[in-house]
Amino acid sequence: MNIEDIPRRRFDALIIGAGGGGLRAALQLAEADASVAVVSKVFPTRSHTVAAQGGMNAALANVLPDNWHWHMFDTVKGSDYLGDQDAIEYMCRAAPKAVYEMEHFGVPFSRLDNGKIYQRPFGGQSQNFGGEQAARTCAAADRTGHAILHSLYQQNIRAKTHFFDEYFAVDLLKDEQGNVLGAYVFDIHSGEEIIIEAKTTLIATGGAGQLFRTTTNALINTGDGMGMALRAGVPLQDMEFFQFHPTGIAGRGMLITEGARGEGGYLVNAQGERFMERYAPTAKDLASRDVVSRSIYTEVKEGRGCGPDKDHVMLKLDHLPEDVLQSRLPGIRQTCITFLGIDPADKPIPVYPTAHYTMGGIPTNRQGQVVVPVKDTPEEPVTGLYAAGECACVSVHGANRLGGNSLLDILVFGRSAANHIIQYLKENRFHKALDENTIQKAYDRLHRWDDTSNSNGESVDDIRRDLQKVMEDNCGVFRTQDVLDNGMEEVSKLAQRLKNASITDQSELFNTARIEALELENLMDVALATVYSAAARTESRGAHSRIDYAERDDKSWMKHTLYSSEDRKLDYKPVRTKPMSVVSFPPKPRVY
Ligand SMILES: Cc1cc2nc3c(=O)[nH]c(=O)nc-3n(C[C@H](O)[C@H](O)[C@H](O)COP(=O)(O)OP(=O)(O)OC[C@H]3O[C@@H](n4cnc5c(N)ncnc54)[C@H](O)[C@@H]3O)c2cc1C
Repeated sequence: MNIEDIPRRRFDALIIGAGGGGLRAALQLAEADASVAVVSKVFPTRSHTVAAQGGMNAALANVLPDNWHWHMFDTVKGSDYLGDQDAIEYMCRAAPKAVYEMEHFGVPFSRLDNGKIYQRPFGGQSQNFGGEQAARTCAAADRTGHAILHSLYQQNIRAKTHFFDEYFAVDLLKDEQGNVLGAYVFDIHSGEEIIIEAKTTLIATGGAGQLFRTTTNALINTGDGMGMALRAGVPLQDMEFFQFHPTGIAGRGMLITEGARGEGGYLVNAQGERFMERYAPTAKDLASRDVVSRSIYTEVKEGRGCGPDKDHVMLKLDHLPEDVLQSRLPGIRQTCITFLGIDPADKPIPVYPTAHYTMGGIPTNRQGQVVVPVKDTPEEPVTGLYAAGECACVSVHGANRLGGNSLLDILVFGRSAANHIIQYLKENRFHKALDENTIQKAYDRLHRWDDTSNSNGESVDDIRRDLQKVMEDNCGVFRTQDVLDNGMEEVSKLAQRLKNASITDQSELFNTARIEALELENLMDVALATVYSAAARTESRGAHSRIDYAERDDKSWMKHTLYSSEDRKLDYKPVRTKPMSVVSFPPKPRVY
């Protein structure tokens, strides 16, 4: 096929991804009368946001005293001082408005008896800058993401956003000056390819939890947007920081929300001991996620794990009143009954740390503009290119995200990116011409998988399985130089093997096989970014825990990592420690 014959569609704004981040941005744009296209490889309401359970943070002070400044402190401390404090201030101040907006869009938040929005305690939350536990997480029972995503989708239908449902984005397209002007996509069902030309492009493709074998993430979370960014010459920021959630169902990965501990559940080891009291005397089971995950790992390693293989710990909820389980945690109760045959009202749940959240991603500023280092400046915006949601790194989560801050992040920065796009569109009214070479590159990348006759090539499935195992073994909760160096070597070998892989399946499932291949290419690039960044950071900070460098090193490492695909090169830029309007929170020892 000639690339001139490929149909083209034009929009003001293209959004790749229909999770909470993409849909919040789309709604803002559609309401401002911009023509918006949203491309999603799954039907929008199947995006991973739908699976979010516990809720979103905002200092509403409906249950306990609270204000945005305390929320900001907790987020900075939770990030182990790597988060950018201007962005964190912006997010925490915007949080109450983000919740009320969602309420007005139709989210049925759980209520208190006085009619106000219910708020549950979550990990890492405090009153008064590190004092008593706070209660800051607004929830719709334990199905908050479901309520948010469906409300946003319906609002977008009303606002007439144009959806390309079940279309796969292959790569970004550029003009000759290197400005990003849309994407090359194809219809998963028919295989039809289209060029979407847009004045602005927002990447909102979510995280990359499929890097690991045991994960709370859906099969679709393969870091596609991060792969696209790397191929377009944009570095990825802080990829060494990957969050392991303390309470995935052991061996299977399904998430048991932190809300279960927020409602009064706690962890015990084989001796029935509530061990978090030893690791975090004040916050106990509601310490930050990195802290709880390391504690569980240590309990198991030191022989106090439960079960015949002593390989997990137990989450106890059986002491909670029946109505709490039924009204606040109905979803996880059902999950346990369905998948484990255990009713948490009677028996504890076996849990173990599980890959959960990609803290790093495409570097952006508060307006969602993608920023890259140019000459001596640490960051310059890339004209017309934006990113929001889990694929982006603003950075509000730094080295460790607090539970309930991601739903907040995607809504706040989805909205602010859209607001910047609206301004940009006012000043840039015309489409620019695409560089045909970038179309050809995207075309070639897709069609490289067409040749199904090469039966010598390795299977994509095998390489993916190997990659997930290598990442789990070499880039997990605790790390050392040897293990990380080995990880770099192993992932590099797998990347080489992927170059020789092929699809042999000629059945009608060919398109799904092709997508799995393209996804694995993205995952592979993200895996390289993750291990290379991790091997370089010789300190322990947040989720990046090194046995050989057990301390945080603020003198050398108060800086963000930037990994580029070209030569697998690492650059650094300083943490923005200056907030917008308040005084900075200087690094302190992080105890809970
Ligand atoms: C089980 C679970 C529970 C969670 N619970 C909470 C919680 O209680 N509170 C909280 O704050 N956070 C929670 N999180 C984290 C939070 O839900 C996510 O970080 C957030 O929802 C991500 O939203 P997003 O819009 O960035 O991406 P997603 O919702 O992941 O959406 C990504 C979109 O990109 C599209 N896409 C990806 N690649 C392509 C491609 N190549 N072509 C076309 N489309 C593409 C997908 O189709 C999808 O529409 C949870 C996460 C998980 C996994």
